[in-house]
Amino acid sequence: AALKQHVVKLPNGHEVRVLGQGTWRMGDDESKRDAEIEALQTGLDCGLHLIDTAEMYGEGKAESLVGEAIQDRREDVFLVSKVYPHNAGGDKLVQACDATLKRLGTDYLDLYLLHWRGNIPLEETVDGLEQLKADGKIRAWGVSNFDVDDMKELLALPNGKHCAVNQVLYHLGSRGVEYDLLPFLQEQGIPMMAYSPLAEGSDVKADIFEDETVNRIAKAYSVTPAQILLAWTVRSGHVIAIPKAGQKAHVEENGAAMLLNLSEDDLNALDEAFPPPSGKEPLDII
Ligand code: NDP
Repeated sequence: AALKQHVVKLPNGHEVRVLGQGTWRMGDDESKRDAEIEALQTGLDCGLHLIDTAEMYGEGKAESLVGEAIQDRREDVFLVSKVYPHNAGGDKLVQACDATLKRLGTDYLDLYLLHWRGNIPLEETVDGLEQLKADGKIRAWGVSNFDVDDMKELLALPNGKHCAVNQVLYHLGSRGVEYDLLPFLQEQGIPMMAYSPLAEGSDVKADIFEDETVNRIAKAYSVTPAQILLAWTVRSGHVIAIPKAGQKAHVEENGAAMLLNLSEDDLNALDEAFPPPSGKEPLDII
């Protein structure tokens, strides 16, 4: 029972663990490269099989680093990458996907996401992604930074319902999606993937990590505030979170957070400290 909620089922039936690994800014600093590769491999050993990357990250450098980290163990990985909106159609999409596969040293992605909405009509993007699927280059596709209206538009398109996830910003200090997007996705059977689950880049990051309630609960379970944040993010069983950790000690903590179940009392106390939304909020993005 303790592990029941630790996997999320995608619409194509594939099950993934609730925590994975982000890679934004990996590969940017050459002096950190070996440590980052070791961190990703340690993450795989800890059960963090999903690796999230993008052609945007370091303009291919993050994908190349991931490729190196997984070269002898592709089958252990659920590999996710993202296409730039300006590449998300026609021949450009095929070329972008091929370049991504080459940098990752693989011949397929488990999941390919539209990074955010751009000017190429959604229908063209969906057609292109379906073709990549038919060609065996990707197993599934999804979107990122889509709010409810974007999702409705997508789901109304032919094959739009094949969308496997929507990846959006979500953490204890940014809960707006709980008002409408998260319940909508849940209704549609589309998991949400939470980026920046450790509030990186947020004004309230320090407030969260120093918060009295967060620290009291962390102490009670002998874990760190980061582990509380991660367990909180994936508490519903409909959310996959992808913390980025370039340091081995961090990734080990993140893997262990999969075993942590917060109680009703904990969740209520966290609601008091960081209240859920009471109305529509614009989608938070980074
Ligand atoms: P996160 O909220 O995951 O925070 C990353 C930071 O937290 C790093 O500084 C990392 O340090 C630190 N950290 C990791 N684990 C711990 C721990 N256990 N204790 C303390 N600190 C820890 O930020 P990101 O913005 O990177 O988001 C995660 C991923 O989501 C990205 O890497 C990317 O893959 C994806 N993303 C997608 C976006 C989109 O538009 N679709 C936008 C933004 C992110 P260190 O690295 O030194 O270990």
